[in-house]
Amino acid sequence: MDTWLLTKTFRFEAAHRLTEHDGKCARLHGHSWVMRVTVGGERIKPPKMREPKSGMLVDYADLKSAVSPIVEKYLDHYYLNETLNIYPTSEEIAKWAYHKIHFELSRLGLPCVLESVGIDETCTSSCRYSYQAEIAARGDESGLPKEDEKK
Ligand SMILES: [Zn+2]
Repeated sequence: MDTWLLTKTFRFEAAHRLTEHDGKCARLHGHSWVMRVTVGGERIKPPKMREPKSGMLVDYADLKSAVSPIVEKYLDHYYLNETLNIYPTSEEIAKWAYHKIHFELSRLGLPCVLESVGIDETCTSSCRYSYQAEIAARGDESGLPKEDEKK
């Protein structure tokens, strides 16, 4: 079966503080964060002429339009402890972003499934979150897990 995975990368500057950490992350500090949004699918628009999305799973520009407002509203140049209402480790930020982006892709009806959201906290430390139930449901138009996948 054909499968395409597309990744769009977003960058933002933001501060956070891990108050319970037993090291230097307990201090207020900032990062140049990188967020990698990966979507997938098994069908692309047939590559016919005169159709703007021909040969594409989803237009990178549409992915950017869906995700950029989230970056602008909650992430870029913010203190993440305040804007996200979570304990802002990379793991929690990736999970928060996944569900936020998943909701937005569904709302806009983009023809792809959100596979994962990666958060790079530094050049050498990164985390990737995915929600397995969503991936299991891929290909099912209803978005619900197939009968044999419920167990
Ligand atoms: Zn940090």
